[in-house]
Amino acid sequence: MIERPSPNHNARSHPIRCIVLHADGSPKESATLDWVSRPESKVAYHVLIARDGTCYRIVPDERRAWGVGYAAWRGVKDVNSVSLSLAFSNRDDGKERLTDAQIAAAKPIIAAWRAKWAIEEVTTHKIVSRFQDGRELHDGQRRKNDPEMAPNFVLSDYA
Ligand SMILES: [Zn+2]
Repeated sequence: MIERPSPNHNARSHPIRCIVLHADGSPKESATLDWVSRPESKVAYHVLIARDGTCYRIVPDERRAWGVGYAAWRGVKDVNSVSLSLAFSNRDDGKERLTDAQIAAAKPIIAAWRAKWAIEEVTTHKIVSRFQDGRELHDGQRRKNDPEMAPNFVLSDYA
């Protein structure tokens, strides 16, 4: 795990209860690492997994990383407060597959988080972003589809 700290986090207002999987939507890990290091992006994940399986620690678990935005999970609107955000480097274009190295790297991270925190569910940014202002959006209205655009993404591989 390589430390690449971001300023884009604050204090949690809820205990950690779930893991939200993402794709960073970028062709280059270096661009994502640069973007999340900038205060003006207001974006961060806890961990980013590069295409070669290298893992970058961006925000400490204990802090509320700014990964999700408008969303809801089990009635909680502040999903960032209850979640750990794990991102794959992936273009999120419906064509690029996750690499075997990424899939292999995600599993021990999730296992370690399950051992450390009371994780109730592993979910995706697509799933949690389907609610806005208490209303369920249909597919065409959803803000986010990550990381489910990756053709070989299967949520049960991580759950
Ligand atoms: Zn996302």
